[in-house]
Amino acid sequence: MFVNDLDVKKQAEYLGVSLWRTPSMLFILMGTIIIIVMLLVYYLFKNYNSPEALIMSEVVIVIVLMSIGNFIIRNVEEMAKINKMKSEFISIASHQLKTPLSEINWEIELLLSRNMEGLNQKQLEIVNNVSDSSNKMTRLVSDLLDVTRIDQGRFFLEMEGVNIAEAIKEVVENNQFLAKNKNIEIKLNFPENLPAVLADKKKIMIVIDNLLSNAIKYMKESGSVEIKTQKEGDGVVVSVKDNGMGIPKYQQDKVFQKFFRSDNSGRYQTTGTGLGLYIAKNIIEQSGGKIWFESEENEGSTFYFSLAKSAV
Ligand code: ADP
Repeated sequence: MFVNDLDVKKQAEYLGVSLWRTPSMLFILMGTIIIIVMLLVYYLFKNYNSPEALIMSEVVIVIVLMSIGNFIIRNVEEMAKINKMKSEFISIASHQLKTPLSEINWEIELLLSRNMEGLNQKQLEIVNNVSDSSNKMTRLVSDLLDVTRIDQGRFFLEMEGVNIAEAIKEVVENNQFLAKNKNIEIKLNFPENLPAVLADKKKIMIVIDNLLSNAIKYMKESGSVEIKTQKEGDGVVVSVKDNGMGIPKYQQDKVFQKFFRSDNSGRYQTTGTGLGLYIAKNIIEQSGGKIWFESEENEGSTFYFSLAKSAV
């Protein structure tokens, strides 16, 4: 977690606190004080061999340890408070951004549906670009809201029996424009009689949308994405396979961490927050399923998730 356990300066910069408040410095301080007090006790005991001296030195040790412990607890408390304030700030800011963004989206939709004929080619292009950016911002705000809900333990699912094939088809429909723009073919592979899965439909669609839009986004040139659904054991496994840029081996253990962006994709695709897979992992795990992937740099990636069969 820490940049470098013994590099106090780097740790202070990383955590944004003064040198004296870094965990390493506090531990070094505590260790040093304990050693000094022990030496003092030894010295006192050697020269004044009396029970009073022993009791006095024990009292001193306890007072010193309690004072340092108290200081550490205060620091941890303050950090937790700052963290809570940060989450609340993100939550309030995202909520405030939601309303004007919905209004912008609504006005653009109105403009395109009612007054499209009055626009020339250039104006239409501009309106489409505005619509595109506004959609990206809406998604970012919604991701930020989801992440704060997850971090505050307020991210709840409404479980029901979900027809996963239909959910996938809906998501594919929404991503067709993006795929066609990059000359990417989306192939679907479903067996007959797929059982309904136990999930929250809207949230599961967020997961599928995330995996599919990543597969499209992280493909440099034209290619194909295959979404496969298989019955496995007591449930269903969905996989999204692409032949895009893949994820470097040395970064694969961080893929589901908040704000993670791989070195190769970050250079190529600047729009991205690293929140999508963190949210997806939380949704799948809260649904009782598992999420994992296989990836080879410059060859492609396959993301999988499993969900249990619904009893209803
Ligand atoms: P975002 O795409 O917004 O950056 P995600 O959490 O969805 O955030 O993904 C995190 C990172 O994982 C991406 O930035 C990218 O580096 C890597 N990644 C995810 N999916 C793929 C994929 N299909 N191919 C290559 N890299 C991927």
